Amino acid sequence: MHDATARFEGYGVLITGAARGIGAATARRLAGEGAQVLVTDVDLAAAERTVTELRGEGLAAEAYRCDVGDRESVEAAVAHTVTTLGSLDVLVNNAFGCTPDTPLFEDTTDETWARDLDLTLTSAFRCSRAALPHLVASGRGAIVNIGSVNGLQAFGNHAYSAAKAGLTSLTRTLASDAAPRGVRVNLVAPGTIRTPGWAGRESHLDDLAEIYPLGRVGEPTDIAAAVAFLASRDASWITGTTLRVDGGLLAVN
Ligand code: NDP
Repeated sequence: MHDATARFEGYGVLITGAARGIGAATARRLAGEGAQVLVTDVDLAAAERTVTELRGEGLAAEAYRCDVGDRESVEAAVAHTVTTLGSLDVLVNNAFGCTPDTPLFEDTTDETWARDLDLTLTSAFRCSRAALPHLVASGRGAIVNIGSVNGLQAFGNHAYSAAKAGLTSLTRTLASDAAPRGVRVNLVAPGTIRTPGWAGRESHLDDLAEIYPLGRVGEPTDIAAAVAFLASRDASWITGTTLRVDGGLLAVN
């Protein structure tokens, strides 16, 4: 019988956009199971605050500035993970930097479209490409992409949804490419999750709860648990999959 509380003992983990929300909850979950986590974010001060909290809970975490829109910044974060933590075993592509949706499709500008695709899809390509040699060297490497139900069904926000659909596809193609090299690649597709990204729109969250068969919107810990499963040896025969964590939303839509 294995100790489920120590599934990530000796693991080095890099999480993008981890200063808050789903990324921070995932950092807490994986560190709580023994990992050393590089909490990266474009906002270094916010990442440092999160790391202070995690260390206060006795967890192993380091803060590092990483802008997923910048190749050099991504490559520096990957190199820093390996030198500081000793290995890179798990990459979680989580950062969220999308612009709010425009009410009308035809009002979406080229700049918004390009930026949202870059920060939502190309960023994961960029991080995965930099991390892959280290994940191969790990012998137990795993990538978990944070997608969205928006990538699976039409819920608005065209660029974001197209990018998340692309991320679902990238998950499959990279999983196929990396499997012979011992690296697994999976995607978690969350429904609505109560994170700081919803600040100022909390009443909308309460309305949204009604469309979820399980009667509530999700919490960051709901996603962190799914990421931990897919990244762990418990999922050692799972790659290229999309795990919906959506309170049953797409079961009925
Ligand atoms: P949050 O907005 O709460 O946190 C995202 C973090 O990413 C912030 O700290 C943000 O920093 C940081 N970030 C923004 N731009 C960059 C960048 N260029 N490089 C690195 N970090 C950056 O997001 P959530 O926790 O809500 O979302 C996390 C993931 O979950 C995303 O991939 C999102 O698409 C997905 N998701 C979320 C859902 C939800 O309802 N919350 C639903 C479905 C999917 P700053 O604060 O400075 O902008």
